[in-house]
Amino acid sequence: MKRVKLITLLLLFIFILLAACSDKESGQTAEQDKQEKPEQQSEEPAEPENQDKEITISAIGDLLIHDSVYRDAKASDTYNFMKMFDQVAPYLKDSTITMANQETMIGGEELGLSSYPQFNSPFAVGDALKQSGVDVVTIANNHTLDGGEEAIKRAINHWEKINMMYTGAYKSKADSNQLRIYETEEGISVAFLAFTYGTNGLPVPEGKNYLVNLIDRQLIASRIEEAKKQADAVILSLHFGNEYERLPSERQKELAQFAADEGVHAVIGHHPHVLQPVEWVKGENGNKTLVAYSLGNFLSGQDEFYRRIGGMLKFTIKKNNENGNGSVEITSPKFLPTFVKYQNWSDYEIVPMHRLSNDELTNASKHYQEIKNHMAQWMPELEFIEEK
Ligand SMILES: [Zn+2]
Repeated sequence: MKRVKLITLLLLFIFILLAACSDKESGQTAEQDKQEKPEQQSEEPAEPENQDKEITISAIGDLLIHDSVYRDAKASDTYNFMKMFDQVAPYLKDSTITMANQETMIGGEELGLSSYPQFNSPFAVGDALKQSGVDVVTIANNHTLDGGEEAIKRAINHWEKINMMYTGAYKSKADSNQLRIYETEEGISVAFLAFTYGTNGLPVPEGKNYLVNLIDRQLIASRIEEAKKQADAVILSLHFGNEYERLPSERQKELAQFAADEGVHAVIGHHPHVLQPVEWVKGENGNKTLVAYSLGNFLSGQDEFYRRIGGMLKFTIKKNNENGNGSVEITSPKFLPTFVKYQNWSDYEIVPMHRLSNDELTNASKHYQEIKNHMAQWMPELEFIEEK
């Protein structure tokens, strides 16, 4: 591989030299060079490899599909959740990679749909995520075992059918050994790991630990180690914390520090069902980890005010190639607060908070400001997405 690259660079250099001699800097030069390249070079990138590159990542919190939500999505003999995502899809599509936490398993209708406390959701939830621009789902949650092994396998089968990367719960040992690494066109690879604090007391079937990743520092550390070898950036999803608490617990803070010490680039937290602030956590090697302790509910049937608020965290992964070291840094954290709007347990819709009118939510702008203050309390530079 190295030799092929060296030869390519040499040939590229000769071409540039020739082009510079024969042709003034006309716009066509580059195009002509490309066409004149011998065939074996066609797989090589046209631009030099020593340029800095960047991609954007977006993450949303829990999709917890209660019966009121799937009833609302019922369309004759099928389900369609797309209208609930209409207002947020343009934001979800606007990143290189978008990830979501699918808290309830999409075991499908044949298994019988169900709500709290043991959920089973329609396949159409997955289709709506795919259609809205989601590229990766994390499925290590306290509800992963709600429908048993059967629901997990059916869900995974559907994720595979629609070509969605899933991480945190697997169909076999071999499947769980396979790291989830997203290779982007920009030449930056990102590994996605996901773990949950537990499974609501439902025992993991014996000998089948691959069915759900449980938080275990040794296991997490070994996966991070492996991921760092194979990918440029590592994103760790943690399903943790105390439900309905607006600030992270000591245990969440300790785990975030542990992740930073292990060199994770970003920690995406969920489970409290309400938003918790974001912050930078410094690792023991001086590295900086972006931590979102809880992204709240993105879509659920929960009705308490703060449980209807969630959002999308967006950030940039920059690969510094210019000095040749290929180091990766996280920059430009941004947040889009969202609100689950509905009336009489129907007409569910995820609405960006900055767009809410007072008719949709009394004192909308006051609530929006309070959420902004809450999210940015430990990160004053956090920006809020308001365009589109
Ligand atoms: Zn949960």
